Amino acid sequence: MSLGQFKLLRPRNLHEAISHLVKYSANIRVLAGGTDLIPSMRQKLFEPEYVLDLRAINELRGIRPQANGMVEIGALTPLRAIEKSVYLLQHYPVFTEAAATVASPVLRNMGTLGGNICLDTRCLWYNQSLTWRKGCGFCIKKDGNLCHVAPGGSKCWAAFSGDTPPALLCLKAEIEIAGPNGVRRLPVNDFYTGDGENYRKLASDELVTRVFLPAESAGYRGVYRKLRVRGSIDYPLAGVAVVMKRSNGHVQDARIAITAVNPAPLLVHRAGELLVGAVLDEALADAAGDLAARAAKPLTTSALTPEYRREMIRVFTKRAVLDAAAN
Ligand SMILES: Cc1cc2nc3c(=O)[nH]c(=O)nc-3n(C[C@H](O)[C@H](O)[C@H](O)COP(=O)(O)OP(=O)(O)OC[C@H]3O[C@@H](n4cnc5c(N)ncnc54)[C@H](O)[C@@H]3O)c2cc1C
Ligand code: SF4
Repeated sequence: MSLGQFKLLRPRNLHEAISHLVKYSANIRVLAGGTDLIPSMRQKLFEPEYVLDLRAINELRGIRPQANGMVEIGALTPLRAIEKSVYLLQHYPVFTEAAATVASPVLRNMGTLGGNICLDTRCLWYNQSLTWRKGCGFCIKKDGNLCHVAPGGSKCWAAFSGDTPPALLCLKAEIEIAGPNGVRRLPVNDFYTGDGENYRKLASDELVTRVFLPAESAGYRGVYRKLRVRGSIDYPLAGVAVVMKRSNGHVQDARIAITAVNPAPLLVHRAGELLVGAVLDEALADAAGDLAARAAKPLTTSALTPEYRREMIRVFTKRAVLDAAAN
């Protein structure tokens, strides 16, 4: 499968990158590590005339703790650098654990945080070759007008399948977005739409440039648990992130987020709130698992049955809550 014909643009700074996006916004795709973009271009899911290669923009790389206790991470920072960061491990362990489960070491060397946040949603009917998709009459997400997963509907239910966003949701992270009108900041919680087709709130002339982890989320115990077919390399089929702070045996604060079972990663507010103020035991962890499973709406977009994936959200949430308390 060929990549097709396109012109590669290599801006040296953010200003140049935005200028290219404005000029070619109708037909341009951003390339960071390329670990998802390139396979997708081979499958003709994206057929851009221009590819904007961000890799020469060094200002978008690096993990920078700030004097006020928050930490700033450039969108081009490789996932491997996040996984190996002693600072992040000490202050935001759920984030390093989630990053360490993405794909494989080789892909984490190439793959970036920005690419993981902006990752396209996935579906068994979509992540296929052109010939395969054509044989099925295409679908709403690309080139068609029907959904094989939810026939009769007009919405795409492709699953968001990134590992770091649930951890970022638990940490109340913010994303910086740069565009022709300057920069804006958005909580990760507001970045995703919940629609598998247009899954993120990012205009075609905008880029994700930085991620901010707030000081008040530092020091939480954290756990990430993930279901996948091949333990060494696969996308999540269900994922749960939990962060928790305890004091005198009581849960002071807790947050729980899920991924790969909805068109967007999701903070399950009620599951976290249930734990606050309580002394944790198996029954409470079970109840949090039930709430998380109820928020999960897996469909036949992915390998393994929706029933099994929802059940694993319940099981993983319970285990992650107990592990976060035992940490
Ligand atoms: C075999 C295999 C297994 C994988 N397993 C996992 C897994 O377990 N978990 C997981 O989360 N991912 C997985 N991935 C997907 C991918 O490797 C990671 O999500 C990676 O973090 C993507 O980052 P990237 O820099 O390579 O993104 P790219 O491929 O460069 O880009 C991904 C998407 O984001 C857009 N984009 C990238 N950066 C920006 C930016 N700064 N601003 C705006 N848009 C941007 C691109 O245009 C593209 O649409 C897997 C991929 C493969 C091939
Ligand atoms: S959920 Fe439906 S519309 Fe979306 S990619 Fe799958 S088959 Fe296509």
